[in-house]
Amino acid sequence: MKEEKKNLSTASGRPYYENEDSMTVGPQGPVLLQDYHLHEKLAHFNRERIPERVVHAKGSGAFGVFKVTKDISKYTKACLFSKVGNECRVFVRFSTVGGEKGSADTERDPRGFAVKFYTREGNWDLVGNNTPVFFIKDAKKFPDFIHTQKRDPQTNLKSPNMLWDYWSLNPESLHQVLILFSDRGTPDGFRHMNGYGSHAFSFINDKNERIWVKFHFKTMQGNKTLNLEQANELKGKDPDYAQRDLVNAIKKGDFPKWKLHIQLMTNSQAQKFPWNPFDVTKVWPHSDYPLMEVGIMELNEIPANYFADVEQAAFAPSNQIPGIGMSPDKMLQGRILAYPDAHRYRLGTNYEQIPVNRPVCPVHNHQRDGSMSVMGNGGSEPNYFPNSYDDIEADVKFKEPGLPIDSTVADVYDRNENDDDHYTQPGLLFSKVMTDKERANTVTNIVDSMAGISGPKRDKIIQRQLDHFYKADKELANLVANGLNFKFKPS
Ligand code: NDP
Repeated sequence: MKEEKKNLSTASGRPYYENEDSMTVGPQGPVLLQDYHLHEKLAHFNRERIPERVVHAKGSGAFGVFKVTKDISKYTKACLFSKVGNECRVFVRFSTVGGEKGSADTERDPRGFAVKFYTREGNWDLVGNNTPVFFIKDAKKFPDFIHTQKRDPQTNLKSPNMLWDYWSLNPESLHQVLILFSDRGTPDGFRHMNGYGSHAFSFINDKNERIWVKFHFKTMQGNKTLNLEQANELKGKDPDYAQRDLVNAIKKGDFPKWKLHIQLMTNSQAQKFPWNPFDVTKVWPHSDYPLMEVGIMELNEIPANYFADVEQAAFAPSNQIPGIGMSPDKMLQGRILAYPDAHRYRLGTNYEQIPVNRPVCPVHNHQRDGSMSVMGNGGSEPNYFPNSYDDIEADVKFKEPGLPIDSTVADVYDRNENDDDHYTQPGLLFSKVMTDKERANTVTNIVDSMAGISGPKRDKIIQRQLDHFYKADKELANLVANGLNFKFKPS
């Protein structure tokens, strides 16, 4: 039916004659209970907020397109990669991690880099960060770690003591800490940073053979970072700096692009890798596992409504498609559980029905009911399996190859050789990859943060962290100690 005139109405569609003055008895009131429009307006307003994401609360999002530029179909049977030229709509959400929804975009923090590919075989979510590694390698540590990134339980202030106490007691964090305290920890907006899937995943081809894969999005705008002073200044001047930069660029047609690359590792290479290849605190060196270009992603559309698409977006590493699968990475395994669980809490059990999360392919299962079931709820079709009525089948062709695992259930003391080498790769980053300027800025950034450690445990925390820096790179430890005016003797 064609709507001729847009009448103001209640949510149920009842036209209403007035929107600013409450209905009263006489010009001075009192207000009448029958003014339903008033109640609805106030009641809806009271319910505008949904739970803030416990991490990655502040974010920006955009739609775009991913185009395959190189043939990798011998490694994966994913229909997205079946031939060069294939295109797929994507939605990307960038974010900071530790801050609240109103926090500043230029805080020193990893940046979330989450991509949802709406493929014909379901949604593929690559839910990564702008860093190739992470602070911890086991999801069991995640709540403790995140508590240290948030606020002190008594003062409600951010706490350098909590940060450095935890990091110094968890040396596996060192690699990510060093990246975080380089200027890449304060990227110049979201357009000028790389994105990494970080974990190892599986590629499975049409012969049902598995190869391990890592994903890297390289910014085509060039890496650009902010130094400490610039980042701090922007926190006050323009807390929404990265959001503004992304919206403005896309609005004026300057569409940001990233080249997607992969690294591949066979199972026999994995067995010889000097570290656990599924340890998310480690990278696979490029010299041994070179980057291979796969495609280009362009962001070209800011959502018409921020809440609808950005706030309600739900990414999960559990969203894989045929041809792409998991790995034994312990963090990944934990995230497969935790992300959908967070979405069920925040958005409700039917969160995949929200338009931004909805797959473009048909969905067939026997899940029914729950709050906000808004897609017909399966209509009159059976709600149990197996049944004699619908033609829904579980097809064995989607079964992944078995993963031979030669092990017993590990107890906590089972360690792989080199599991405790938290130092070689950060050392390489500092001594070989960073330029002199990057090294100097990294030291300045670390000193600025560690200078905030106070109280009776100060010296113990600083000494412990300097010992870790020292094991990675002696010069790094000595420069930080000098900057802090701390008498450091390696333990
Ligand atoms: P390469 O020399 O082949 O490449 C170095 C990589 O480091 C590049 O991808 C570069 O990104 C990136 N990089 C440069 N500065 C920083 C920084 N401050 N923080 C994070 N990344 C940075 O390195 P290798 O593969 O031999 O690895 C050496 C070290 O480089 C690793 O220990 C790791 O710390 C770091 N690194 C390695 C990556 C990998 O997947 N192999 C990925 C990212 C970092 P860009 O090309 O965009 O400038």
